[in-house]
Amino acid sequence: MFEKSRLSQIIEPLRSQFMIMKECLACKGQISDKSIKIVAEEDNSYMLHLACPHCQNSLVLLASVNDIGVGLVGMMSDLNYDDAKRLYTKEPIDEDYLLDAYQTLHKISFNKYLNF
Ligand SMILES: [Zn+2]
Repeated sequence: MFEKSRLSQIIEPLRSQFMIMKECLACKGQISDKSIKIVAEEDNSYMLHLACPHCQNSLVLLASVNDIGVGLVGMMSDLNYDDAKRLYTKEPIDEDYLLDAYQTLHKISFNKYLNF
């Protein structure tokens, strides 16, 4: 019950100002409070996950509420809530990791062509 009222406190100001909190971007179906979950929060900033019950598309939103207003940035995603929660705490990949992955893939492709 506490979580529900806490969520309501966060999303009410957002819902009053942003259509994205009421209506799915993909199918225009209604988004209810049940479809919105908090992934993470820090001070007055929140990461929210919205799952459309009609078309199963998801949105991950970053919202910030302060004295001068409300800021909201969102992106369509195929992440479910558990994925969003898991990836939020994961360290970002760095350039070295990307280069290693590229070189490994390149080596595999190169060896494949040598076998012909
Ligand atoms: Zn939808």
